[in-house]
Amino acid sequence: MIQSKLIKRPKLVLVVDDQEINRDALEVTLEEDYEIIQASNGLEAMEQIEKNADRLSVVLLDLMMPVMDGFEVLNRVNAEEHLRHIPVIVLTAEKNAELRALEMGAADFITKPFDVPEVIIARVARIIELSEGRQLISAAEHDRMTGLYSRNFFFEYAHRLFHYSPELHMDAIVMNIEQFHTINAVNGRDFGDEVIRTIGGEIRGFLLETEGIASHFEGDRFAMYCAPQTDYQALLDRIQSKVNGLSQNVSVHLRMGVKPWQDGVEPEFMFDCARAACNMVRGDYQNPLMIYDEDMRKRELLNQRLLNDLRSAVENRQLTVFYQPKYDIQCDPPRLGSAEALIRWNHPELGMISPGDFVPLFERNGQISIVDTFVWHETAAQIRRWEEKLGRRIPVSVNLSRADVFDPTLVDRLERIVRDNGLSFSDMKLEVTESAYTDKANDLLEVVHDLRQLGFEIEMDDFGSGYSSLNMLSAMPIDVLKMDMKFVRNIENNEKDLRLVKLILDIARNLKLRVVAEGVETEGQLKLLRDAGCDLVQGYYFSRPLPPEAFEALIEREMTIERG
Ligand code: C2E
Ligand code: MG
Ligand code: MG
Repeated sequence: MIQSKLIKRPKLVLVVDDQEINRDALEVTLEEDYEIIQASNGLEAMEQIEKNADRLSVVLLDLMMPVMDGFEVLNRVNAEEHLRHIPVIVLTAEKNAELRALEMGAADFITKPFDVPEVIIARVARIIELSEGRQLISAAEHDRMTGLYSRNFFFEYAHRLFHYSPELHMDAIVMNIEQFHTINAVNGRDFGDEVIRTIGGEIRGFLLETEGIASHFEGDRFAMYCAPQTDYQALLDRIQSKVNGLSQNVSVHLRMGVKPWQDGVEPEFMFDCARAACNMVRGDYQNPLMIYDEDMRKRELLNQRLLNDLRSAVENRQLTVFYQPKYDIQCDPPRLGSAEALIRWNHPELGMISPGDFVPLFERNGQISIVDTFVWHETAAQIRRWEEKLGRRIPVSVNLSRADVFDPTLVDRLERIVRDNGLSFSDMKLEVTESAYTDKANDLLEVVHDLRQLGFEIEMDDFGSGYSSLNMLSAMPIDVLKMDMKFVRNIENNEKDLRLVKLILDIARNLKLRVVAEGVETEGQLKLLRDAGCDLVQGYYFSRPLPPEAFEALIEREMTIERG
């Protein structure tokens, strides 16, 4: 066995006294058991303490010194969270000063002139032992970085509050940092730690004003059990703005879930609900706060149900693909150009469920690729069937989710689907939603590049709905830009919206991209878009998404018109 003395550095003791002879006397007394460093006034002492905060076992501190006296040193050490754990033994000849120093947080005192060496050695050893014991307990009880309770202690105390102080009504709050691993990876762990400490500091400040306890655990999670607040948005904003102050270049987004106090509900369950609420707003930078309520409970039950039912839905053919036409509006009359495949779920008990209710859910848990794979196969087969039956090949776009884009087998799978159905790559276009562009941009660029290389056309979906950056637009090899519905909605009565649409069209023209306007519902919108030079239009004005048979009828009608 290796002796512990060999692997451990000796404990560090700082001796502070303006008299060299005193410093040396103490050094000689203690040097056999400790590593000694010296300072000759308070200012030097503070420098040494800051520098060695992690290693210092004890400070022996003279009170009367020039430049900065020992009282001031005591004050400063106790004012700082990261120094407070270092015990200070004061060296003094004056009874009154001893008392004052103890009141100010000194751990013990040694009188001058110095006692016999054995007494000094024993006192120093005892204080170190005491302080190490206290730190050991407090380390387990508190999270080192924030000073908040560690996870187990927090839940134990919440439990006790719930059972022993039933008159206290407490809300459960859970807070998370969006993409914390990315923040650490990109900006370094030191920055990440700074974020955590800042949040911890603000929460401690909050708890000085409100009754409650808080914890930090698992890297980026915070939990609070505290008296009900009237304005949680204000609490979130307050912590968020502290974090914003850390860096101008890095944006860190917090999200928060709250489960308001409910009579008789155990803290464990309260926190499950708060966590579920917090997860609901993951990635939603516009609305990062969610209060758990009855609607959410129903929503959660529904989500659970949908997650359970998905596989059998695929097997039992409850999923169907609808098709919505895109019309080329620069011809007269407008001409059917292509279509978009949109998933529908006809649930035996819940009825027709729209993708808005399950696509985001499956995107969060990764099951979306089951849906998408189904849609791709179905769509390719459908294009083929229409061609065989009607003699016309209508290109159809399918939607790709973030999860698909980062699946390493994506390119091969799409290629196989197209080939197996005897299609060419330009027959199945791929819509990638704008939000997929936000992170891992380089990986995305590579995948999109490979897909295009094969001959797929790429459409950027929902352009302008979120965080699309204009740089991305020029960097990303795409063919078509799908302008989000919100731009089109008000162009008839809002001059500004119309100008914005024209601007987007200009940019697209410059980048040689075609533009599809989504959500066109009226003739007025159509005319404005055509005059502004928009190429294609998709929307209820022409048709809602249709089941395959109805879309087939639409193709036939179009073909009759074209034959004229
Ligand atoms: P999206 O890809 O932007 O699809 C367009 C959505 O706009 C469709 O909603 C469509 O029905 C709707 N829409 C079309 N014209 C109009 C209009 O004139 N007015 C209004 N108010 N709405 C119109 P839907 O089918 O509910 O799909 C919603 C979203 O769900 C889609 O938005 C897409 O992001 C996603 N989604 C649908 N099918 C799939 C799929 O197979 N895979 C994946 N990953 N996502 C899908
Ligand atoms: Mg789409
Ligand atoms: Mg869209």
